Amino acid sequence: MYQVFKFGGASIENVNRIKGVGDILLSYNNSNLVIVFSAMGKVTNMLEDLVDSYVNEKEDVFQHLQKVKSFHQEIIDELFDKKHSVRNTVNNLFLEIEWILEVNPNYQPSYDYDQIVSIGEFLSTTIMHSYLLERGFKNTLYDARDLIRTDNTYRNAKIDWKLTNDFINKKLKDKHCITQGFIGCTSENFTTTLGREGSDFSAAIIAFGLNADQVVIWKDVPSMMNADPKFFDDVKPIEKISYDEVIELAYFGAKIIHPKTIQPLKKKKIPLYIKSFLHRDSVGTK
Ligand code: ASP
Repeated sequence: MYQVFKFGGASIENVNRIKGVGDILLSYNNSNLVIVFSAMGKVTNMLEDLVDSYVNEKEDVFQHLQKVKSFHQEIIDELFDKKHSVRNTVNNLFLEIEWILEVNPNYQPSYDYDQIVSIGEFLSTTIMHSYLLERGFKNTLYDARDLIRTDNTYRNAKIDWKLTNDFINKKLKDKHCITQGFIGCTSENFTTTLGREGSDFSAAIIAFGLNADQVVIWKDVPSMMNADPKFFDDVKPIEKISYDEVIELAYFGAKIIHPKTIQPLKKKKIPLYIKSFLHRDSVGTK
């Protein structure tokens, strides 16, 4: 049985945090895991700025690209030696963006958005896959486009559950599988994205397909609170909450988990835990 872990951008926003994620995963070395990563830090926002420049034919497109490159370059320089093959793979991902930028924007900006912004997750998983191998955490990198089949509603793609469940069951075989959150693929092999914050949803889709034991979303907060600490002083952690209450809270504006993520888990009664990557031993929320 698998557990599905999801690590968001904040958990891998710098080298220290990346090392922390390595520590967490090594402590689960004996478990069967599917690990879903978002793009690092605020990379999705940076890539959105790039897309905005590109589709509106502004002049600062390559400045935006440079920002994304430098961000990753710094991390790579700290984590890997000069000859490590990860550098080539990452360069090729940037080439993919450059090839798109060389031609005029597509008549459908959402299509361009998905082809470019999805690269954030390919970059993060490429780096994490190699880094974790260096740490002695054996893992296999899977392309989410081989796992999650969607329609062609770019930026908000809808899941083809039947095909997706088939792919997930046939393809995810290794003890530690790594893949990209937020990303799917059409039947014509075009990359799609599932909407902002879609990586939580990816984790739920995979857990649903595999009948996973549990999903853990690793966040920078110790647990879910009974109110937003930005607005209230006396907030208390919630140890356990029902699927329906979470959906209701989200409906009333709580940002912690999107209802889209809860639905598949509720259907199969797969427990979801929120845990803190900063305080690994705190109980979190079930
Ligand atoms: N990277 C995407 C975003 O920032 C997906 C995710 O993190 O869930 O929205």
